Amino acid sequence: MRMGLPIRPVIIAHRGASGYLPEHTLQAKALAYTMGADYLEQDVVATQDDQLVVLHDIHLDRVTDVAERFPGRDRLDGRFYVRDFSLHEIRSLRVHERMNADGSPVYPGRPPGTEEYRVHTFSEELTFIAELQVTGGRPVGIYPEIKSPAWHKEEGFDITPSFLNVLSEHGYVAHTDPVYVQCFDDQELVRVREVHNCSLKLIQLIGDNEWGEADTDYDQLCSSRGLKRLAKTVDGIGPWINHLYRLRSDRQIEDSGLVARAHEQGLAVHPFTFRSDDLPPGFGSFAELMRFAVDKLSIDGLFTDFPDLARAQANS
Ligand code: CA
Repeated sequence: MRMGLPIRPVIIAHRGASGYLPEHTLQAKALAYTMGADYLEQDVVATQDDQLVVLHDIHLDRVTDVAERFPGRDRLDGRFYVRDFSLHEIRSLRVHERMNADGSPVYPGRPPGTEEYRVHTFSEELTFIAELQVTGGRPVGIYPEIKSPAWHKEEGFDITPSFLNVLSEHGYVAHTDPVYVQCFDDQELVRVREVHNCSLKLIQLIGDNEWGEADTDYDQLCSSRGLKRLAKTVDGIGPWINHLYRLRSDRQIEDSGLVARAHEQGLAVHPFTFRSDDLPPGFGSFAELMRFAVDKLSIDGLFTDFPDLARAQANS
């Protein structure tokens, strides 16, 4: 079932077909599969009882009804942390479309999520994806992310060994297996490779230093020297789309050179996130963005909330 994945660009369903259904629900993953995604993404966070669940944030409050269900269980910052709830409690929450702090939708054009959507474990999702491939008759890869490993350690849990155990239990062990492991933390990826002796393909995510995602200097990583160092550990990079270009004062788009520099080091480039309802500055349409990234820069893959649109554009 794991043969014949297309070479380029691979379409990675970002949190599933999250442009259509609430992110990281099994329904969003199934829809992404039927829309032709090559890889389905999982973000992995640990619960109070050290269970791994598929959620984008270390918090529960932007995508579930936790505040109504468990009042008073927030920390001093007013946030409800996955780490403060048992798996049993988290399973009882309802998942909805992503909201801002003030309760307004992040993407107003997307349906709010009126069905009984739930949180599931990392292992349950991998079983579900294995079943999808049997019934759907088409191979699909997985693209899991180790979320905030340094933060989890501060909370008393080393998430990475558990994460890698789940993968190996589901048969993902070899470099050729259809899986990319992603992380924002460059030192954790070095440990994954060298301490945990992991053979899987690894992707260094590259955000903006201002986000505070990890104690990693992304400006340095994007230099030729930084990329050369990365290439000793990882198979590719997952840069923020805005790192691929500069917007000149005349509004013309100029290649930043990052894709070419990464390719010189033999690194694949899988930028995030391609959204038709939230285009990066300077682009007038999803098709224009795809033409720039795929045809001009020759990216190797892309994260998208809209796998159907990306698939259609990539094939056109
Ligand atoms: Ca992610």
